[in-house]
Amino acid sequence: MQIDILSLFPEYFQSPFDVSILKRACASGILSISHVDIRRFSKDKHKKVDDRPFGGGPGMVMMPEPVVAAIRSVRKSGSHVVFLSPQGKLLTSRKCEELATKEHLVFLCGHYEGIDARAEKEVDEEISIGDYVLTNGCIAAIVVIDALSRFIPGVLGHPDAAFEDSFQDGIFDGPQYTKPIEFEGEKVPEVLRGGNHQEIRNWRLSQALQKTKRVRPELYAKYLLEQCQLLAKEEEVSSEPQKSNG
Ligand code: SAM
Repeated sequence: MQIDILSLFPEYFQSPFDVSILKRACASGILSISHVDIRRFSKDKHKKVDDRPFGGGPGMVMMPEPVVAAIRSVRKSGSHVVFLSPQGKLLTSRKCEELATKEHLVFLCGHYEGIDARAEKEVDEEISIGDYVLTNGCIAAIVVIDALSRFIPGVLGHPDAAFEDSFQDGIFDGPQYTKPIEFEGEKVPEVLRGGNHQEIRNWRLSQALQKTKRVRPELYAKYLLEQCQLLAKEEEVSSEPQKSNG
């Protein structure tokens, strides 16, 4: 996958993509990440890219010309342009899975008070990483790229790893344990050491459900509703009269 990140501070991205899993993904060619400094597209002799907002108010706004020119410099057929913004749709695991199938992603990072609204016509999708406001979109871009990369085949060691994590089935993942068997008087639950895979699956699911119910009751309620709908559908199908061959 090719990724272009448009920002005013490309140096933000130096270390996040140069360690661990993302470093390997870049080195192997699964991910190819390039940086575009929006300032390069300023026509101003001082490379100015922002100005005071019309109508008054605090801070500065990024001007539309350099932003639009930066996007157009990398956009090609099949590109998907994402603007990181607190006003976008909230990032979810499903969205990451969907983004992971794109061939070319362009991430536009806002700075200061944001970008001139007229530049948004070049944007395919606005994504927020949470209901709070960051100083700029670089950190949000790093979060989105990290999360979507896990769904690109070959990025994680095990092909199923991302699909067994929290949120994939609508609830949390179960608790994890490793050696030692006993730590500060607390033992790894017996069931995980027994080798009965069905019992292990059941235990993990019940632990995951308990924690989801306690920490994220709205997710738990949604999960229960979806399970009921699934059951109802299955019953509907099984009670349909069978067509005879004769
Ligand atoms: N005035 C804007 C508003 O209230 O909606 C906030 C601008 S914010 C200070 C500057 C930039 O940070 C935004 O243009 C966006 O790129 C990025 N940003 C801030 N919070 C974000 C969030 N929750 N998710 C994604 N990007 C965010």
